[in-house]
Amino acid sequence: MNYLQSAYDILLKLVFPNSCLCCQKISEEGILCEDCFNRLEPTAKKNCLQDVHFPQFIDAAYAVWWFNDILQEVIHQMKYANRARIGIEMGKLAAASFGNNVCNSLDCITAIPLHKKKKRERGYNQAGWIAKGISKRTGVPLDLQVIKRHVYTVSQTTLDREERLQNMENAFVTSRPLNGLKIGIIDDVLTTGATMSACAKALKENGAVHITAITLATPKTKI
Ligand SMILES: [Zn+2]
Repeated sequence: MNYLQSAYDILLKLVFPNSCLCCQKISEEGILCEDCFNRLEPTAKKNCLQDVHFPQFIDAAYAVWWFNDILQEVIHQMKYANRARIGIEMGKLAAASFGNNVCNSLDCITAIPLHKKKKRERGYNQAGWIAKGISKRTGVPLDLQVIKRHVYTVSQTTLDREERLQNMENAFVTSRPLNGLKIGIIDDVLTTGATMSACAKALKENGAVHITAITLATPKTKI
């Protein structure tokens, strides 16, 4: 390691001290200490598409963990400092947890896009960081440009289930032909599947043949 590299490492440690995201305990393990990591609750890691309210255009759906207080805190922290590192690390943990069978057959992975106005307000898309981590760990190419959101949709939280779907339908456009591609779409939490389904629809209309939804978490009780 040369001098510049070690100086860079020292700087990184100052900016990102190794403390656990959830309990702030000094952690050598990474963004979560062992105790908090062990409080993550893995799902059965089976295809959970039958539990998704809007499965149209999606061929398989996977969530790594049940949404609990630890996941809530992690996702909350992604909105603040070090968000890129948190997103990428969670993506790597997710990919490690899945093993190879979920991502092996994919040609590329992408993330649920934000509308550029919303992205400008927020400054980032956390799903993109998670996707980057999954790509780094699995070697499946990342393509965040493959799909864009072209309608500025109102906040989903104020809408009921049917309104959410209507709001989302046709909100996405693809940038190029995707003939024969198998694509993984990444998001932080899988709830009704409405956004995922609308995204999958746009990809399939442009030629994608297989869509896998991959998220960090899903609620135990369906919405
Ligand atoms: Zn902890």
